[in-house]
Amino acid sequence: MNEKLKTEADVVVLGGGIFGLASAYFLCRFGKKVILIEKKDVGSGASGSNEAWVWLSSRKQAVLPFARLSQQFYANFEETFGMDVEYNNCGGYIVAESEEEMKLFKPWVQGRWNEGMIEMQLLDAADFHARLPQVSKHVVGATWNPLDGCVNSILVCVALKDAIKAQGGEVWTQTDVTAINLKGSRVHEVECSRGTIRTDVVVNATGSWAAQIGKLVNVDIPILPNRMTVLVSEPIAPFMDTVMMSATYVFEELAKAKKLEAIEAGEVEELEAGYVYTQLRKGNLLLGSTEDFVGYDNLVNFECPVAIAKCINDLTPPLRNKKVNIIRSFANFFPYTKDDLPVMGAVPGVEGFVMASGLNGGGMALGLGCGFTIAQQVAFRDSMIPIEPFSITRKSLY
Ligand SMILES: Cc1cc2nc3c(=O)[nH]c(=O)nc-3n(C[C@H](O)[C@H](O)[C@H](O)COP(=O)(O)OP(=O)(O)OC[C@H]3O[C@@H](n4cnc5c(N)ncnc54)[C@H](O)[C@@H]3O)c2cc1C
Repeated sequence: MNEKLKTEADVVVLGGGIFGLASAYFLCRFGKKVILIEKKDVGSGASGSNEAWVWLSSRKQAVLPFARLSQQFYANFEETFGMDVEYNNCGGYIVAESEEEMKLFKPWVQGRWNEGMIEMQLLDAADFHARLPQVSKHVVGATWNPLDGCVNSILVCVALKDAIKAQGGEVWTQTDVTAINLKGSRVHEVECSRGTIRTDVVVNATGSWAAQIGKLVNVDIPILPNRMTVLVSEPIAPFMDTVMMSATYVFEELAKAKKLEAIEAGEVEELEAGYVYTQLRKGNLLLGSTEDFVGYDNLVNFECPVAIAKCINDLTPPLRNKKVNIIRSFANFFPYTKDDLPVMGAVPGVEGFVMASGLNGGGMALGLGCGFTIAQQVAFRDSMIPIEPFSITRKSLY
């Protein structure tokens, strides 16, 4: 017999990425009966396939409280969530490859200091090369931030899933949401492939797919899938115990809203490449990356690995000389918003429908803190970190 389930929950969380998992976990901790629904498997979106940086350096001031809170959770992760997720607070560099970039760095770092990122340092070429002789001598300087680090992002998702279950929550994977039924203007039921859940609250943590869920309640959600491609190497001996990226990447990131307009107008190429380096505990390198807006096409186009390989060879010649093998590549989507800020909290007109998406390129750094905050909002209608700046009604989102 294939009878459909009828059940109820205080909160239904949609999406098994870091945002949904963290929200669900803390909601359980706050005494709520939670069901998390994931279309595929936990970590099958961006949260399980990324560059693994816990990266504070270029996060905007508005989200730094989430980043600092997340960092505290990572520092005590095993104690809290019951699993070692290979968190490495190794510090990170952003490197300038030309005097022009170095000139841009100076006011940028000054700005970061003014925003409270006082840990960041600006290094000249001599200081940088003394620390990282593996890097090409054409680098003219770098920022260094001891707060940056990395983590095994797949383990983070698995740990959170197990922790939700240990707290009495349910995680339904391979489950499709088909409808969100309202009673008047209030959330009343979630229909999915397994059955119907009576609930007053739905948390939309579907990341790059958030707009599709929005359609079920007639809400436009301005979040786009931004594809990123990354290469994975064979395991090698420790190469550089740090995370590192090129400045191009940061300055392009800052200019992304403009760039998207130019892409739409057909004025510039979609693909952009920048150097991103991480080494996981088992020795594999995660090397990136390219970014483009191609809808939901997650194929790895040949031009992406080629562009990444060029960046890697230019900046870290010993990797080229050692002939390190690339064993696979992957592409996934991060949830892009025009102002690079998440979308969090209530949605006017649909009572009980709560947004928890739009972590952009920083979800591994922000997701635990953002999930904690959404859980506080749902459970207590208030939170330690205010969420008004992240409302779906803010002007900068459109
Ligand atoms: C290649 C790449 C590299 C990155 N590198 C970094 C990095 O180094 N550091 C960093 O901090 N961030 C990085 N990011 C960004 C980071 O991965 C994201 O910001 C973060 O994972 C987003 O988390 P999320 O939970 O919001 O979304 P996701 O992890 O995408 O989760 C959304 C989930 O919703 C599910 N879903 C979709 N539709 C439905 C539905 N109808 N019903 C139920 N479930 C549904 C999806 O299957 C998915 O599992 C990177 C992203 C990419 C793609």
